[in-house]
Amino acid sequence: RQSTFRSDVGALLEQVGTGKESLSFMKRRMRSLAAQWALAARKLDVSLQSHRKEEKRILVHVGFLTEESGDVFSPKVLKGGPLGEMVQWADILTALHILGHNLRISVSLKELQGFLGVPPGRGSCPLTGPLPFDLIYTDYHGLQQMRQHMGLSLRKHKCHIRVIDTFGTEPAYNHEDYATMNGYRTNWGYWNLNCRQYMTMFPHTPDNSFMGFVAEELNETERLSIQKSKVDNMAVVYGKEASMWKLQGKEKFLSILHRYMEIHGTVYYETQRPPEVPAFVKNHGLLPQQELQQLLKKAKLFVGFGFPYEGPAPLEAIANGCIFLQPKFKPSHSSLNHEFFRGKPTSRQVSSQHPYAEQYIGRPHVITVDFNNSQEFDAAILEIMRTKVEPYLPYEYTCEGMLERVHAYIQNQEFCSPEAPFPSANASKSWPGSPPRPFVHLSNSSTLAWAPNISAPPSWPPLSALQLLASLEGQSCVEACQSTGLICEPAFYRFINIKEAFSGLKVQCVGLETEMNHIFPAFSVERSECGLQKDPLLFSCAGANAKYHRLCPCRDYRKGQVALCRDC
Ligand code: UDP
Repeated sequence: RQSTFRSDVGALLEQVGTGKESLSFMKRRMRSLAAQWALAARKLDVSLQSHRKEEKRILVHVGFLTEESGDVFSPKVLKGGPLGEMVQWADILTALHILGHNLRISVSLKELQGFLGVPPGRGSCPLTGPLPFDLIYTDYHGLQQMRQHMGLSLRKHKCHIRVIDTFGTEPAYNHEDYATMNGYRTNWGYWNLNCRQYMTMFPHTPDNSFMGFVAEELNETERLSIQKSKVDNMAVVYGKEASMWKLQGKEKFLSILHRYMEIHGTVYYETQRPPEVPAFVKNHGLLPQQELQQLLKKAKLFVGFGFPYEGPAPLEAIANGCIFLQPKFKPSHSSLNHEFFRGKPTSRQVSSQHPYAEQYIGRPHVITVDFNNSQEFDAAILEIMRTKVEPYLPYEYTCEGMLERVHAYIQNQEFCSPEAPFPSANASKSWPGSPPRPFVHLSNSSTLAWAPNISAPPSWPPLSALQLLASLEGQSCVEACQSTGLICEPAFYRFINIKEAFSGLKVQCVGLETEMNHIFPAFSVERSECGLQKDPLLFSCAGANAKYHRLCPCRDYRKGQVALCRDC
């Protein structure tokens, strides 16, 4: 059945239910963004023209909101707890609804069991019939609950599951046996999913799919009125919980900032000003989202203290014409050196409070400096006061961008039929006709001697986007592809995991082994050794090893929509 885009959220609001502060927060957000979603749906509908739009039966089970997982968030909604998750779930639900799918929403174990047709009761009970859904969106809590209550049938159906996973899960952590044997086991990972089934809040490692969320877009009138209402010496501090203001050395840079600007905060408090917030800060208390936007429309500067990591608020600030000033982390924060990331299934190095803002947006909207260096901090404030910026929102965080991306995933991502590995026997035939794409690059840009066979099984993204590259020693494929303006595409690993790829790169392989190692396919120049990947679950863009050059399947991407290639 073809889906028809919807332009009204009324039916969705009814479906979301009541009785929890978190649900009210999500519904307020859905209502306030309804007009933007409707407009975006109309635009996307026109640009998609006759493209396939199959209607899917979708279950959304928000695990962290269930009583059974402790629902620690709902009581915190009015106290400034992690609202980022709620923002993202609200937007995912809205996107799925607007795209015209047949949606069921569950925020309790009972509802989950009802929708799946699993008899209630204790213990696991396998689902006997077919799965009544094409897709299930959930989180790590929900996944755990499904394992407990669907028993072994989860294994059969897990290719239909998508896990909303803010910070991401890397392949080495996801592969149960490999993680256990090689020290990558955490409390979260090891589900043996295809890593693209994990969907992140920002485009972290491309091993996962980037889901994202949206921020408010300004129309022309609002843009003009912002220009008039901006107060050049007004700063808002990023941090809605008092604990976020505990940062060491904060007094020093707050007093520098206070020399030039009036400082505002939106810190939750019960009766008194929290002691962490200095007296010269004008604290508004936690604001409703809409009122926060109004404050950001007036402010010139939004300043982060290093925590929370990677939330939505900086994008909202930049979209309202603020400059975001944030601390650079030296050394980077990661699961190896920081409590917050410890036990998270990723080795990602977090270079600042908001690496997306730093790397994808940058100056003039984002300034990332060492806050311990008073001179640098001082100079940044002066620069900010001098600089005029326009409100800016990357396309991928607009409603249209999110709809486009989610639509492409739903129609094209397929994890249920096994992806055939590349037929190695035929691989020596070269690509018929010209131009001979995909290209093979060495890091110094010498090109092609090999191209995969056209009879390879169909792929999404389309194989025409593939560009093979060898990383530098110690470099991951995330970095290698990035350094040539491309992005690593894990779906393409199966095409380059063949010995011909090495000869194409003129790599002499004295030894060639096939092993379970998340660094492979890779080669060591020193030892003239080449390695192919034995288990497709371990194909990893994120992996790196000081002794190896990695083979990297890169692809192009659309400006402002990194999840999609030009021909996707
Ligand atoms: N927010 C809000 N009122 C405030 C401060 C923040 O409604 O006074 C909202 C904000 O609009 C953003 C959300 O809280 O969408 C999440 O903010 P943050 O970036 O702090 O991320 P978190 O740490 O909650 O994930």
